Amino acid sequence: MLVRDRAHQRGVELGPYPLEALPRATKQAIADTAVPAWQAPARVSKADSTLAAAAQFYTKLFAQCATSTPAPRAPVPEDLQRRSQELKGAAYYLDAAHAGICQIPSHAWLAQDRASAADEKFALILWVRHGLPVEDDNLASQWLNGAQDAIAAMRALEIGAAITGHIRAMGYNASLHDSEDTRVNLHLLALLAGIGVNRDAQIVSPFFGADYAPVAVTTDYPLAVDTPLANQPATLQLRRSLRYWWGINGAVSGREHNRQRRRASHLSRYPMEQVKRVAEPTTLIFADEVPRVPKRAEFFQRARSGDLGPKAQQEVKRFAFKHPLTDGMMYPLRAMVAHQDGNVAEAQEDQFGDAAANARAIKSLSYHLGADLTGICEIPPYAWYSHDARGQAIVPRHKYAVVMLIDQGYDTMEGASGDDWISGCQSMRGYIRGAEIAGVMAEFLRKNGFEARPQTNADSQVLQIPLVLLAGLGELSRIGELVLNPYVGPRFKSVVLTTNLPLAVDQPIDFGLQQFCKRCFKCARECPVNAIPFGDKVMFNGYEIWKPDVERCTRYRVTNPKGSACGRCMKTCPLNKVVSADGAWLHRIGTWLGVNAGWLKPVLVPLAVWLDDRLGYGKRNPLKRWWLDLELRNGKAQIPRGTNERDLDIHRDISGKKSPVGYYHASDMPAPDSHQAVPVDHKQAIKRGSLLESVAQARARRARRGAKP
Ligand code: SF4
Ligand code: SF4
Repeated sequence: MLVRDRAHQRGVELGPYPLEALPRATKQAIADTAVPAWQAPARVSKADSTLAAAAQFYTKLFAQCATSTPAPRAPVPEDLQRRSQELKGAAYYLDAAHAGICQIPSHAWLAQDRASAADEKFALILWVRHGLPVEDDNLASQWLNGAQDAIAAMRALEIGAAITGHIRAMGYNASLHDSEDTRVNLHLLALLAGIGVNRDAQIVSPFFGADYAPVAVTTDYPLAVDTPLANQPATLQLRRSLRYWWGINGAVSGREHNRQRRRASHLSRYPMEQVKRVAEPTTLIFADEVPRVPKRAEFFQRARSGDLGPKAQQEVKRFAFKHPLTDGMMYPLRAMVAHQDGNVAEAQEDQFGDAAANARAIKSLSYHLGADLTGICEIPPYAWYSHDARGQAIVPRHKYAVVMLIDQGYDTMEGASGDDWISGCQSMRGYIRGAEIAGVMAEFLRKNGFEARPQTNADSQVLQIPLVLLAGLGELSRIGELVLNPYVGPRFKSVVLTTNLPLAVDQPIDFGLQQFCKRCFKCARECPVNAIPFGDKVMFNGYEIWKPDVERCTRYRVTNPKGSACGRCMKTCPLNKVVSADGAWLHRIGTWLGVNAGWLKPVLVPLAVWLDDRLGYGKRNPLKRWWLDLELRNGKAQIPRGTNERDLDIHRDISGKKSPVGYYHASDMPAPDSHQAVPVDHKQAIKRGSLLESVAQARARRARRGAKP
């Protein structure tokens, strides 16, 4: 508990609640179980709730996506336990509260479907817990009135759709069922799969009662099944025990659940209110020197256009979706793009006149929907792309950015090398969740008369990094084009909601990261392709930044032969830790000192960096490896030709002499509407490093009013 949290020894497939510690039923007890007839949960969403309607729209969208044709059969393990471990691991990785597997008895099918569903003999059933409650004096409590069920149902459908697509991509049939549209008795399956018990004819969780939305995925993919829970007092009493309070088997403790529920709903689960706020970001931005850039200049776009050569051009189409689970996420992710814009109602509701109240409510809503950290800023002109991917000019039209971070999940990251077969999935999980949250919020605001657009990974008109910085969610790090947060480090994906709703904004933060990154080289040392500089920050396009070699990074992520994408810098960063009430004491103390005792940094940072390596942080934890290594090639999931099995490279040369980075200036980028390949010249890009100003030189030039270089 001092240097490792208890969750370190818990498999991801066990989930956040200690279901495994509960008594199980005997065969006779199961036979005697009274089966409640299926009926949708009693608390239905209000038909007149604008928010419920937005969530229901996305729910239907996800349901429509779970109908892909099964691919040819994949080489899945013979071991049924391993298969179940993988599916439950996926459900928990995607934030289900409970997940279990059962065989489907014929009477679980609703009468009219018994014959047609004969092949689908197994079910994965999962529950998503409702979002945290919002205070009565918070505007968001009015917005959420009658919408909580619809939101939880949407979140459950998102997970169910991804897993349905995943099973289909492995060559088996799978069907999705939710409480609004099911062909199976979801109550009965929850009992059989050991995630719920029957209390007064209501199927409840031993830990959170009836506070959930259910989804089932039925399949002909043979699986190992779970045992039903014993319906006895001990089952329901565990959550009141001291054991549960302190955490059982590394599950999330009662203390941590309690801590999260006690915090004000607009504050997130992390104490960002303790972090020092500053008027300007801790790295210089000369706003008048930052050029607006077209999407065409963005390196994944350059790969698509052939600038990185034919291999990258070919691979960029599939690199993020070449694992079957990401294939399952691809359909909902793409389906949401068409709905990023929409009609705005003519009349604006009176309730939205107070910018501070709006900001509080919008943050509470974001957390209820599933964001992990939210900040708000005004959008400077340079944060808008100049042209979209088609070369059309983008006119900045919204004043505010609601910037939301989605934690990519520590547990799975702990099991991964950062550039193996789950890596692309970690990104997609953040992107799909972000698009869903911002999409619902935008739809809600538009229906209330305010322009709003989710700016998602699939289609963003804004550059997200400067907005994350300005919204007070982190500082720029050595990784370069990545902002680090004091509580989740670099382990997040961002999504932005741009809007004209009046909002009070946040200030940037200073938690001493510049000092930390100056003395820490771990990300640069562990990057497989030397894309992160070991040297000092430079001024680049108006930003003070450790500028990475974006071409090297993009090329590796796109063409990685032994994994999908890459996030190894994020995985190995010492700030990638858990700092909740369940986190190891060392992390919690270190984070507290980092946030509250900046003056100690010169002494503590070298020690922290040294200790991080010596204690083995950044190595893989095999217990957390729930996923299967599979690669989709030509529409068929196959055993990959290899897997990146990396741990730490502590003795690697960190002088940086062998790996100078290339710099691609805005002035060297292709024209916004260029459809032809404009090949990159890496040697030239390295030479251009000599043209860059140091931070001191740039300051001196500005002081004497010298011209922009
Ligand atoms: Fe290097 Fe991978 Fe990070 Fe890119 S994502 S900088 S390749 S470690
Ligand atoms: Fe900064 Fe070290 Fe993290 Fe790199 S690994 S971003 S240098 S703290």
